[in-house]
Amino acid sequence: MTDPRPATGLRALLRSDLQDEKPYGATQLTVRAALNTNENSYPVPPEVVSDMLAELTTVLPTLNRYPDREFTDLRGALAAYLSRSGTEIGPDQVWAGNGSNEVLLHLLQSFGGPGRRAIGFTPSYSMHAIIATTTGTQWTHGRRSQDPARLFTLDPESVGAQVADIDPHLVFICSPNNPTGTAVGLDVIEAAYFAAPHAVVVVDEAYAEFARRGTPTALSLLAGRERLVVTRTLSKAFALAGGRLGYLAADPELIDLLRLVRMPYHLSAPSQAVARAALRHADTMLSTVDVVKDQRDRIVVELTEMGYRPVPSDANFVLFGGLADSARTWQALLDQDVLVRDVGIPHYLRVTAGTPQETSAFLDALAALGDDHR
Ligand code: PMP
Repeated sequence: MTDPRPATGLRALLRSDLQDEKPYGATQLTVRAALNTNENSYPVPPEVVSDMLAELTTVLPTLNRYPDREFTDLRGALAAYLSRSGTEIGPDQVWAGNGSNEVLLHLLQSFGGPGRRAIGFTPSYSMHAIIATTTGTQWTHGRRSQDPARLFTLDPESVGAQVADIDPHLVFICSPNNPTGTAVGLDVIEAAYFAAPHAVVVVDEAYAEFARRGTPTALSLLAGRERLVVTRTLSKAFALAGGRLGYLAADPELIDLLRLVRMPYHLSAPSQAVARAALRHADTMLSTVDVVKDQRDRIVVELTEMGYRPVPSDANFVLFGGLADSARTWQALLDQDVLVRDVGIPHYLRVTAGTPQETSAFLDALAALGDDHR
């Protein structure tokens, strides 16, 4: 294969398949309402900070030693938290990394790679494709429904057919999906699993805790499906994005295989300590979820009233359409100190549900733009 364009200097040394790639780059700015990366707007509560500090006081003098490579205590705490879903998950079914991005990387390093194929359903979380590419895995953009009544949804027949067509080594299904907020039924996951008999099927549930009542989690499908993986994170509902702790649940044998690719001692002792303290206070850490869900639902209602087209959401954000020019509206909102995300879908923007004040700041700023932006 020839290089896509002539490169000079250091770039000429870069792998040819990365020559045209762009780095992940969500804007980081100090604004009154930062609603562009789906974080939880609420700070870590003081009693949890105290417990984190107590843990760190014990851990810091031991930093002369490497941390527990198998993060045994943390693994137990994550398994106990997942078991609250009603599906019993054992510590040997849990794996963790520095954010769920790292556990996704471990999956692609283990089961993807040169000569291998992965599929996800676009629009979806852009890092799935980016991590696939950086591991040399060939990425296929699967399709979602374009029917206005079921916009961006997935159905088992379409997913099954698209997956069978590619015969992939990995399938990514994001539910609730970033950036659309769309969750899938368990029949969609079962269809993907059945249609790709040699693939690892990854269900990215980073936003699971924000789902509306009745929306299922794929954890209940793990039993008897050794190729199924469910990824989660403490970055969103748990309000711990800066702690960098993501994890997954899968068959113990699959977990064992991930040890082949992880860097030794990849989870630092402070990271493990902070996450353990957060999980001890799971109810407190999750106490803002209902407030955020209320703001999400408020955004959907008020945007509809304003004549925009919000997509129904099971996450802590809303994708909305009906914009004449997304880039122009993005800038006009930023001019009012409100930062949202242009995810590259023409005529759409994505906004994170924040505190009631931040949500008001966004809705007022958008209303102030008037009809000219629709
Ligand atoms: N999956 C999805 C769907 C996401 O939206 C994100 C973050 N935006 C992640 C995974 C990664 O999050 P983290 O690495 O912070 O766990």
